[in-house]
Amino acid sequence: MGYESVLVVGAGQMGGGIAQVIAASGRTVLLHDAAPGAVERGLSAIEKSLTKLHEKGGADPNDVLPRITPVDDLVAADLMIEAVIEDASVKEEIFRRADQVLPAHATLASNTSSIPITSLAAVTSRPHQVIGMHFFNPVPVLKLVEVIRGLETSDETTRTITELAVDLGKTPAEARDLPGFVSNRILMPFINEAAYALLEGVAEPEAIDTIARLGFAHPMGPLALADLIGLDTCVAIMEVLHRGLGNPKYAPCPLLRQYVQAGRLGRKSGRGFYEYSS
Ligand code: NAD
Repeated sequence: MGYESVLVVGAGQMGGGIAQVIAASGRTVLLHDAAPGAVERGLSAIEKSLTKLHEKGGADPNDVLPRITPVDDLVAADLMIEAVIEDASVKEEIFRRADQVLPAHATLASNTSSIPITSLAAVTSRPHQVIGMHFFNPVPVLKLVEVIRGLETSDETTRTITELAVDLGKTPAEARDLPGFVSNRILMPFINEAAYALLEGVAEPEAIDTIARLGFAHPMGPLALADLIGLDTCVAIMEVLHRGLGNPKYAPCPLLRQYVQAGRLGRKSGRGFYEYSS
């Protein structure tokens, strides 16, 4: 089994899900978050998710949870998967420090939705061992892992991370390191156009989402999906697309920005396009 120990940085909705699937595969997980109480909240979300999956025949939470150890800082491991907020300077600082703390053989991966892997690799002394490992939300359920090679990523790093994704029960798909990769280059303009349809009064949120679900056979409408992803994350990704590709069509809809300013971040804050009870 490759990558016996994995440091997951960021215990939010993605980091928690990543820690869960890696621990369920039998590996040791070290889980770190900078915000007080975040790891505890992450662990309790993991326990809830494992309990639900166990009822459907998944792994026993009592076997999986002890494999996840909270840590106060970055620590040595065979692999780091970074899943902190979508902010290039925060991520770069983590990659800079991880390069100093993790052993020379370790791979440094990012779950970023849009930030160039090449720029994260450039702050380390091991750019050939830096890669994008982009999971999808909810991580324990969705099968896709977008594997993104930076300019210097080696064939060996790509092979071992692809093998890890398969070992986790996922299906990897390789993308080149251009803004938004494949998934968000397609998804974000779709969500943005739905926000414009709402802003311009074309339809109510429920009607927009019903049209996408029943008309395009999408499991969720774009506004409900944006609430699941987090509207702050959507705006951050659109800004990377806008800056990186230089095309005004990627600029975030003013309504999305306004909701983020108001703290309406989607499910994680209890309100976005829709309201959610805790
Ligand atoms: P989130 O807001 O739920 O969690 C982010 C976590 O990062 C928070 O717990 C925060 O305390 C922590 N954090 C911030 N700065 C930190 C630091 N310096 N050190 C350690 N921890 C720090 O966000 P999320 O939805 O889990 O997204 C995380 C990453 O995953 C982002 O890069 C996002 O683009 C990507 N992503 C998100 C989705 C999605 O659907 N939400 C899907 C795929 C990828």
